[in-house]
Amino acid sequence: MSNTLGQLTATEIAAALQRREMSAREVAQAFLDVPDTYGAFLHVDAERTLAEADAAQARLDAGETSPLLGVPVAIKDNISTQGRPTTCASRILEGYIPPYDATVISQLHGAGMPLLGKTNLDEFAMGTSTENSAYALCKNPWDPTRSPGGSSGGSAAAVSGGLAPISLGSDTGGSIRQPAALCGLVGFKPTYGRVSRFGLVAFGSSLDQIGPFGQTVADVAALSQVICQTDGLDNTSLPDAPLGAMDLANASVKGKRFALPRELMSDAVEANVRASIEQAIRTLEAAGATVDHVDLPSLSLGVSTYYVIAPAEASSNLGRFDGVRYGAREEAPGHVESLMATRGKKFGHEVKLRIMVGTYALSAGYYDAYYLRAQQIRGLMVAEIDALWGEYDAILSPTSPCVAFPLGGFSHDPMALKLMDFCTIPANMGGYPALSLPCGLADGLPVGLHLMGPVRGDERLLELAAGVERALGCAPLRPPRA
Ligand code: GLN
Repeated sequence: MSNTLGQLTATEIAAALQRREMSAREVAQAFLDVPDTYGAFLHVDAERTLAEADAAQARLDAGETSPLLGVPVAIKDNISTQGRPTTCASRILEGYIPPYDATVISQLHGAGMPLLGKTNLDEFAMGTSTENSAYALCKNPWDPTRSPGGSSGGSAAAVSGGLAPISLGSDTGGSIRQPAALCGLVGFKPTYGRVSRFGLVAFGSSLDQIGPFGQTVADVAALSQVICQTDGLDNTSLPDAPLGAMDLANASVKGKRFALPRELMSDAVEANVRASIEQAIRTLEAAGATVDHVDLPSLSLGVSTYYVIAPAEASSNLGRFDGVRYGAREEAPGHVESLMATRGKKFGHEVKLRIMVGTYALSAGYYDAYYLRAQQIRGLMVAEIDALWGEYDAILSPTSPCVAFPLGGFSHDPMALKLMDFCTIPANMGGYPALSLPCGLADGLPVGLHLMGPVRGDERLLELAAGVERALGCAPLRPPRA
C-alpha cells in the first residue's frame, strides 16, 4: 500500500496533527492518493475534501484541540450530504444531490473532519455482502475475491484497505458489525436514539442507527463522542444522548461477567469461527473474566422476526421514491404509469422483493399474522435479554457465523445470506448498543467477536470492549500488503 498513514489509527493521526508533524491537507491528500481498487467509494470530490482539510488546519493553527480535528472520514452513501451525491447505491437516486446535510454530517463539520467521499453499500442498505449495489462491486481488502460483508461494505473496505482512517456506516440488522467482522475492524452500533437519524435515508426506522468503523475501540469511541448528540430534528433522539466519561486506557476484563447465548453459538457457526471465539473466551477467562452459557430461546426467532419488521418498515419508507420530487424519473404518458415505470426500472431486485414482502405483511388480513406477531416476538426477545443485565456486563457471541465469503458465492442461495444475521439482529430489536471487534484470524481471514450491552450502556460497553481488545491483543488487525 502506498499510503503509510494507513498504518496509523485515527487517534494517532489526530495526535500527529496536533503536534504539527503533518498538515490536515497532507493527511487528506495521502488518503485521496490511494487508488480505490476495492470499489469502496461511489463518490469522491478531492477538491472539496482538501478545502475542508484546509479549514481544519486553520482551526488547528488557531490552537483548537478537539479530538479528531483534521482527521478525514468516509461516509456511507445513504447519509445525506449537501452538495455531494447521495445515491444509496440505487439507480432511483442516480444524480440526486441533497439540499441539506444529515445531522451527523453537520456534527463532523463541527468537529473539523474533512469528508473523504461516499462509500459503497447494498442498495438502500438491504443486504449482507454489498453485492446489491447498483454501481460497483465492493471487495474485501483481505482477499479481493471475497465480500467485505454488508451492507456498509464500502465503509469497512475503505478503512481496512487504508483508504480512510475511520468511517461511518448504518446498522439496521448488523450492517456495521458484520462488515467490521469480515474486514478485521471495530464497528459500533450505539444505543438506538443516541445518534440522530435525521438525514439517514430510512430503511427500518425502528431499527436503523448510524455508527462508526475504526481500527481500534479508541477510534470508534472518539467518533462516537462526535456523533452521539441529542437532536431536535429526530423525534426518536434520546434527551441524554451525549456520551459520558469513559476510561478506555485503564479498562480491564478482570471481574467482568459475560453471557454466551447457546442460540448464537449454534451449529450454524462454522468450525473455524467457533474455534476462534472459543480461544478468545479462554483468553478472557485467563484475564479474570467469567463467561457463562445461557439460554435465550427467542433469539432463534430473530431472523424470521427481523425479515418481517424490516421489510414492513422499508415498504412504507420507500414509498417516497416516486420519481416526482427527486432522483431518477422514467417518463410515461400518465402519472401512475410514470410512477410505475420509475419504481419498476430503477429499484433493484432485492429492494423490490422487500417492498413486496413488507406490503404483504402489513396488508389487511395478514397484519395480525405477520407484523403483529413479529412485534410480539420482538417484545419477548427484549424481555429475555433485559433479564440478564442484572447479572452480566455484556452478551458475547460471534458477530458472523463465517469469515469473509467469496463474491457471488451465494448468488443461488440468497436466503443463506439472510440467515447469517442471527447474531447481530437482537441488538437492533432492542435498540441495544453492540459492537464487533477482531478476535483473531481463521484461515487467514478476520473473525469478529460481538458484544452487546444494555440500552444507554454505551460508555460501559466501550470500556469493556477496550478491556477485551487489550486482553486479546489483536487490534489493529491489518490485511497483509502486497
Ligand atoms: N443484512 C441485513 C439486511 O439485509 C441487515 C442490513 C442492515 O443492517 N442495513 O437487511
